[in-house]
Parts: sequence; structure tokens; C-alpha cells
Amino acid sequence: MPEPAANARLAAVQIIAKLKEHGQTAYLAGGCVRDALIGAKPKDYDVATDATPDMVQALFPDSAAVGAAFGVVIVYFPATKGRTRWVTEVATFRAEGAYSDGRRPDEVRFTNAEEDAGRRDFTINGLFAEPNPDQPDDPSADTIIDFVQGRTDLENGVIRAIGDAGERFGEDYLRMLRAVRFASRLGFFIEAKTSAAIRAHARYLGQISRERIGQEVLAMLQGPRPALAVDLLQQHNLDAATLNEDLNRHRLEISKKLPARAHVPTRLAAWLVDRHGEQSQDARIVKRWRSALALSNDQRDELNRLLQLMPTLHEWANFSLAARKRLAAHPNWDQSLLLYEAIGGDALRIRKEADAFAGDGIGLHPEPLINGDDLLARGLEPGPRFKTLLNQSYDLQLEGKQVDRDQALAWIDSQIG
Ligand code: ATP
Ligand code: MG
Repeated sequence: MPEPAANARLAAVQIIAKLKEHGQTAYLAGGCVRDALIGAKPKDYDVATDATPDMVQALFPDSAAVGAAFGVVIVYFPATKGRTRWVTEVATFRAEGAYSDGRRPDEVRFTNAEEDAGRRDFTINGLFAEPNPDQPDDPSADTIIDFVQGRTDLENGVIRAIGDAGERFGEDYLRMLRAVRFASRLGFFIEAKTSAAIRAHARYLGQISRERIGQEVLAMLQGPRPALAVDLLQQHNLDAATLNEDLNRHRLEISKKLPARAHVPTRLAAWLVDRHGEQSQDARIVKRWRSALALSNDQRDELNRLLQLMPTLHEWANFSLAARKRLAAHPNWDQSLLLYEAIGGDALRIRKEADAFAGDGIGLHPEPLINGDDLLARGLEPGPRFKTLLNQSYDLQLEGKQVDRDQALAWIDSQIG
């Protein structure tokens, strides 16, 4: 049994140390090297090695060959306290054959580190790091192994495809979305040839599964520069295949105005209004986006509600107090105001008013004074009238015209009398 590791990096470093004890080459690889160099926290630590999957499994019995055909073994490592174990992906250095379906190599061949770097997507993702055994927990003590000039690109903030950009995107169309995701996450610039190759291949993106497209796009919208992501998608002609609609060159006025606390459905709504303006209420668009991005029911419903709230907010001043309180109690209220403000509406005034309602002694959504049982007790049959009476009574309550149960019941009696 190996010694427990205090964190995910140390688990990977110990795996590397053991592989090296057995005469193998092993490095930290890809995203974790990139992130450590720019001072970001790596999501996970991947190891790349010349040991075959069989050797890795023999050395680490607590492991699983998840992608044996691709040379990937998941190694579980005991953790100290709290956590049960660390999960590290250990992949054998590989070269990839042709991608006849544009998403998965037809075959892989095990090889050396340099060739393995060469099959990766972007130079900043093609770096390896050899930990310093004396400073295992200090990434700045690692030796960086760079076959692809990834370090310079990382320092200069450049996303550059490794090798021939056109070929690389032709092998795997998803890389086009990855380029945009990394550029927007890191605030990097997509190098000219890489950028031109994306434009040239953009129309083939639709050959990738909708789940994978949606996953990348939602990840971009969750990142630190969602408006840049949307802009880059449009600049690279990726919007059409991404959304299953025509290319659109409208300016992203609304997307750019949303504040950082806007959620993903709010960002989708802003993008949709930027693209479709007056037509945004057309339910077919949300339907199309839902299938194009494989949105969940919840995401779709929230997107619909946000869009539907826009014209309503426009009419805010004309609504009764009860109607305004009902709106302000809406689960998407806060996000809808962010969108409304980005569209140019006077969200501040509405927000102030709604805040005042919340503190008026009655509140936005007080417990109803009466319920269906009270109507049943009065001999009323459940039905449309039932619901209307309860709603009307609640409106009066929200407006402060029914302040206690007796008053509410008396009102009901007056209605059914
Ligand atoms: P993230 O922080 O988003 O996980 P990452 O760079 O770790 O970023 P992963 O998808 O976890 O990305 O992949 C790990 C590594 O595998 C990448 O750094 C890259 O070297 C390589 N890789 C992943 N996807 C591809 C791809 N589609 N084509 C080529 N190489 C890829
Ligand atoms: Mg990763």
C-alpha cells in the first residue's frame, strides 16, 4: 500500500516517483502544467508515461483501465483524512491515427513523450513537468519539458494549434470549441493561422454530438469571460453550427452588459436577444437552442421564463401592487432584472420598489391567510372558481386589504353569499 497523499498533486507526484523507480519515464502533463505556470489552480493532475497500461495496472493494483484502447488507466491513491482517495489519470504516451469520424482516433500507437506532445491540441496544453523529488509540493521547482514552444505561447497569451492547424481541426472538430473556451477562460488571443483554420472548418462542427457541443458552450458561459466567448464563437463562424441557425453578425450589446453574477440561462437569454431582437419571444428559438446545446429541462424552462419576463417588466408600472409583488417573488426575479438592465430597462427603479415591498410589513410572499380547506368547509366544490377565489383573496392580502384570517373568511362569505 502506498503512503497516503495529502493532496491531488502529491498523489500524482508519488505515482511518477514509483514509475521512475521502475525505470519508466513519467511526467505531469497537459492542463495541470499549464495552470500551475500561470498561477491557476489545476482542476486535476494527469500523468503521462512510457509505461504501458498493463505495467501501470501492475504497479498500482488500485486502478481501473477506463480507456485501455487509448492507454488510459485511472489510479486511485489513498488520501489523508476526510477524503477517501485521489483519482489520477495515467496515460501512456501515444500517437493517434486518423480520425475518420472527426471525433475519435481510429487507432492509437504507444510512443515517446515528444510524439505524445505532438498529438495534443494547443501548445499551451502540450507541456510536461517533471517534479523535483526534494520539493514535491512546489510546482515552481518542477522542470518543464516543452517540445512545442508552449511556454512562450503561455507567456504571450496565445492559443496556437500544435502542428498544422487545419489538419488538427479536421481530425477533431471539438478542438475549435476548446480553442474558444481556453481563449475566453484565460483571456488569450487565438493566433492567426489557428483562427483562420477554425473559420475554415466551422461549418463541420455540427458533426460533433450535441451533448459535447453543449458542454463546451455552457462551460464557456460559466467561465470568467462569457461575453468574449460568445464574441469569439461569432467571429469564428462557429455560432451557426453551435446553435443550428444562420450565421449572425449582430453586435453583442446585451451579452456584453451582463454583470459577472449573471447565470448561464441569463447569458443564453442575452445572447438570444442579441441575435434575434424583436423575434426573441418566438418559442421556436428556445426549442432550437435546447436541442442544439442539449440543454436540460431546467435550463430550458429558466431561459423561457427570463425571456417571457422581459415584456412584463416593461409593463411593470401598469400592474397592480399584488401583480408586482407576485412578479418580484418569482424565482428568476433577480436574474431577470440583470437581463432587463442589460437590455436598457430601468431595473434600478424596479428593484428599489420591489425591495420596499419586501419591507412593507406584509412582504412579497406571505403565507396565505386562507386555503382550500376553508373553501371546502364552506361547501365549495374544487374547480376554477375555487382557484380564482383563493387568488383574489391572496391579492387582497398582498395589498394589505385583508390583514387577518377573519377578514379573509368574511370576504369569502361575501363572495359566495
Ligand atoms: P481543463 O482545465 O478544462 O480540464 P485540460 O487542458 O486539462 O483543461 P482536458 O480536457 O482535461 O483539458 O484534457 C487534458 C489534456 O489532454 C489537454 O491539456 C490536452 O493536452 C489533451 N486533450 C484534451 N482534449 C483534446 C483534444 N480534443 N485534442 C487533442 N488533445 C486533447
Ligand atoms: Mg483537465
